[in-house]
Amino acid sequence: MSSTRTGLVWDERCMWHDSGTSTAAIPGGLGIGVVQPEPFIDGPEPKRRFHNLLQVSGLAAHLRAIPSRPATEGEVLRWHDPDYVKLVREASAGRGGEVGELTPVGPGSYDFALVSAGSCLVAVEAVLDGVVRNAFALVRPPGHHAERDQGRGFCVFGNIVLAVLHVRATRGIRRVAVVDWDVHHGNGTEHAFYGDPDVLTVSIHQDNLYPLFSGAMTDRGEGEGLGANLNIPLPPGSGTGAYLAAMDRVVLPLLRAFQPEMVFLAAGFDASAYDPIGRMLLGSESYRALARLLVDTVDELCEGRLVACQEGGYSSMYVPFCGLATIEEMSGVRTGVADPMTLLLDEIGGQELQPHQEAVIEAARQLIA
Ligand SMILES: [Zn+2]
Repeated sequence: MSSTRTGLVWDERCMWHDSGTSTAAIPGGLGIGVVQPEPFIDGPEPKRRFHNLLQVSGLAAHLRAIPSRPATEGEVLRWHDPDYVKLVREASAGRGGEVGELTPVGPGSYDFALVSAGSCLVAVEAVLDGVVRNAFALVRPPGHHAERDQGRGFCVFGNIVLAVLHVRATRGIRRVAVVDWDVHHGNGTEHAFYGDPDVLTVSIHQDNLYPLFSGAMTDRGEGEGLGANLNIPLPPGSGTGAYLAAMDRVVLPLLRAFQPEMVFLAAGFDASAYDPIGRMLLGSESYRALARLLVDTVDELCEGRLVACQEGGYSSMYVPFCGLATIEEMSGVRTGVADPMTLLLDEIGGQELQPHQEAVIEAARQLIA
């Protein structure tokens, strides 16, 4: 196995995006006077500790470090509304503020969000240039909730949307698939390509978690894009069995039928059992198994051209192990680092596919049959 199979994009400045304080996922002062405010839940620690584990485990030495760059304003304007971009820039130049729904930004956040988006662009370029076979952009702020004209759910710019538009504009690639396994619905990506038959968007998420009333299985796309969007809203409490069944019975057959030229992964790690705002049961070995299935299928379909972009994940303790397992499978390099929580998680009640979860997966399977 080549030591440069997998690229890693990491830029310290992504960690400087500061959203202030919050009470759980609610930004600002709603808890003031009632309960002590905490650092905002989408802080840098889970992602920084993930990066630290890549270093300490030795895996980083087997990855190709890809230099980041900020996205240009023109690249961001390929999708985002100019007034929204101006709002973020002006808030960021001052003391920060809210730029949509649950998306507080701090001083400098505009520049840090450009670095986050640009890191996903260079990851794509490295893969398409053949520098690496696949790549992981370990970025924040995340992107999959961002809408064209507002930030949502901690997401400032639509990192993956912009990356898809980038390959369209600069590389002549048309057929792209986005697989989103973040515990929340990938609403921004869905909306960007809802009428586009050449971008397949698939989101596996906890049913009606965030955004509320978004991500229904009946939302299949519109016009020419009808059929090129699929949501698999799994019941809360879903574990490894449900996720593997959704991937194996629905997502992978859909990818094979679609025949993409490259695949993006919206790599959230908030479907873990330890996530403070998701209610799913995955462990790092679940992510390993999901990644193995996806990597093998992308190898088979489009010469391994997979770009993973970090999305959510709020357990500082556990995101690092889920991320390590995912990149181990992408790179084919095992570090031997043991996840200490595996023994506790793998056999707990509910990990196996339950009938009410299978009913949802079967309904999704029938939609694509
Ligand atoms: Zn999420």
